[in-house]
Amino acid sequence: MNTNELWQAVLGELELQISKANFTTWFRNTFIASFEEKNIVVAVPNTFTKTWLEKKYYKEIQTLIQQFTNRPIRNIVYRVETRQQDPQPIPTEPEKKYTENDPFDEAFASFELHPTPVLKQASGDLSLNPKYTFQNFIVGKQNELPHAAAQAVSSQPGETYNPLFIYGGVCLGKTHLLQAIGNEIKRRNPQTRVLYVTCEKFTNDYIHAVRNGRAKEFKDTYRNIDLLLLDDIQFISGKERTQDEMFHTFNALHQNNKQVVFSSDRPPKAINSLESRLSSRFEWGMMADVGSPDFETRVAILQTKCREKNYLLQEDILHHIATTIQNNVRELEGALNKIIAIHQFKQIVPTLETVKPALASFQPNKTRKNITAKQLIHSVAQYFDLPVEDLLGKSRQKRLAFPRQIVMFLMREEMKASYPAIGAELGGRDHTTAMHAYDKIQDCLLEDERLQNDLELIKQQLYTT
Ligand code: ADP
Ligand code: MG
Repeated sequence: MNTNELWQAVLGELELQISKANFTTWFRNTFIASFEEKNIVVAVPNTFTKTWLEKKYYKEIQTLIQQFTNRPIRNIVYRVETRQQDPQPIPTEPEKKYTENDPFDEAFASFELHPTPVLKQASGDLSLNPKYTFQNFIVGKQNELPHAAAQAVSSQPGETYNPLFIYGGVCLGKTHLLQAIGNEIKRRNPQTRVLYVTCEKFTNDYIHAVRNGRAKEFKDTYRNIDLLLLDDIQFISGKERTQDEMFHTFNALHQNNKQVVFSSDRPPKAINSLESRLSSRFEWGMMADVGSPDFETRVAILQTKCREKNYLLQEDILHHIATTIQNNVRELEGALNKIIAIHQFKQIVPTLETVKPALASFQPNKTRKNITAKQLIHSVAQYFDLPVEDLLGKSRQKRLAFPRQIVMFLMREEMKASYPAIGAELGGRDHTTAMHAYDKIQDCLLEDERLQNDLELIKQQLYTT
């Protein structure tokens, strides 16, 4: 078995063990770069994949390689390195031909004709707003992955992650990142044909084109570009014909190595009535989520915005704003604007005392997003790639018992649930079982770095989706 075959065998096994989304995100474009004695170097496309594989899949990969090679593997090193990959073959599907009498989807049915020449607006780069750049995008823990992926896409469009799928809650910078990609690519190569559209506009353009017998013109516009940035793709939910068109648009672009970037307020799996062939396309390249900014990032964002507005605020004031407003970046900016406006109007220098009343209308957000037992169980099950039924079931196998104890621990820590309630949620177990689980995980956490990391990742996933 050569290294290539070995890695294919490992990937084949892993694919069975973990979910498809995880598999495509973390294992595409990886390969064994070298294999000597007991040391293996696995090449990965970027530092995030590297960290992730080191932290989450180290053991699995090591075990599999040992199994396949029949020798002890002492050390696996992950190194960032790329090689030219063959473009993925795309199964071709004939495009459906619709006629006027076909059933319309919801969007078609409710669409009202606007007299605007939509297609004309779509072409050209008017769709890009120069104010969104990488330079004024603040990077923190919650968005470093999407940010890095966006930069990778900007420097090698069509090559690294195609498509890139960025998802996360409102006003956390998704549109900013999409636009920054467009602006950066235009800066590097002004000839690039970039098209930024919201899903809503894509839908309207398409319906309009079909209604006016200009479907071909639509296809020409959307398929003869180098970079397609499609914002807020969740709105495609339930719109069958638009999904169909998007599927073919995506295929046409992807086949020609043209970069496509999507944004959504939720991961593909959570978009209702999304055709599976489309959702699987979304998951092909890289999926990266943006979370709410942490305190340090919020302060950094405020500092940047102050600098942009040429307005000086003392550090204690910035800290106060960042403590009061935790939800999203737009609220942060809104609060800052309000403070500036009030103080300029009164012609006074802001102090903590004068700023506090200005923020009274912004509710402090002390508790994090409320989570339910169901969400928590789901997250843990997903993380360990276990069916929820097994997690709640009777079996005491270690591979189930340990994740189950993690659920109990997190329910106590994150939801402040009582032990009897925890027992009840987990398939009617006794409260002493829950107490024992809590103590056990707490003990393990003291020295088990891997477990600490597991819990961090689970919480991250829980609070950001
Ligand atoms: P979304 O598309 O996720 O709803 P936006 O990209 O529209 O959010 O962001 C809302 C506002 O917050 C925009 O003005 C954007 O420039 C700003 N913003 C969001 N995230 C950041 C960030 N990390 N650094 C700087 N500005 C940000
Ligand atoms: Mg947006």
